[in-house]
Amino acid sequence: MTIEGFKEKYGYEIEGMWLPRVTAITSVVSKYPLFLKDRGHFEEAAQWGHFVHKMFGQLARHERFEETETTIKLSQTFQDWMFENDIILQKEDIERRVVHAELAYAGTLDLVAQVKGRVSVIDFKTGAQMSPEYLLQTAGYMAAYNETAKVPSEARWILRIDHYQECMGCLAQRRERGSQVSVRGGKSSCNHQWSSLKTTGEFIELKEYEQDLKAFVAAKELWEWHNRAMLRTIPNYPKTV
Ligand SMILES: [Zn+2]
Repeated sequence: MTIEGFKEKYGYEIEGMWLPRVTAITSVVSKYPLFLKDRGHFEEAAQWGHFVHKMFGQLARHERFEETETTIKLSQTFQDWMFENDIILQKEDIERRVVHAELAYAGTLDLVAQVKGRVSVIDFKTGAQMSPEYLLQTAGYMAAYNETAKVPSEARWILRIDHYQECMGCLAQRRERGSQVSVRGGKSSCNHQWSSLKTTGEFIELKEYEQDLKAFVAAKELWEWHNRAMLRTIPNYPKTV
């Protein structure tokens, strides 16, 4: 990989510095271990993740969106989540770029909002299960946000969005991501009868911030070590490696 390619893929140019992004750093912890064997599935999952993020950004900013079965269900899930958790949004805290100058990294967090009165870093996820990588990412975002925030964030949350059909006989779950279809659970002998699409949101608070931040800082060290040859050729990376 060229230096320019590396810089583009893994970081941002901010105020004359090149800084790696949070998600590049946390990639030292495996993201979807079950999917890695199947590259096609991995890419479809990434596309679905991108779609949900774009949609939620639009909903948070009260922008119009194209109405399809999927977007209407996602919109309902988002509105229910806002209502049930007393979410108060601030426009400038949607998809906001954050920088940690001292630890030399940057990132784009999904949302900072009040959750039942507490300022919170919120990350949208679409993976089929929780990943330890989320703990590191949200700790990295919160530390960077709190560097410059007037009102620091005091909590971290994951809003995990799932989207599937359920067999009315055996309760197997069918997920369609682009051209990829996966069926999990249930009985293989069943002649599945699929329900209409269900969209569910699971809202999970991540405790143990101090411990997760420590692990994020350690992940950054590991990432730097792994990429030291490349990082030494980047003159505006503000750290000696
Ligand atoms: Zn079935």
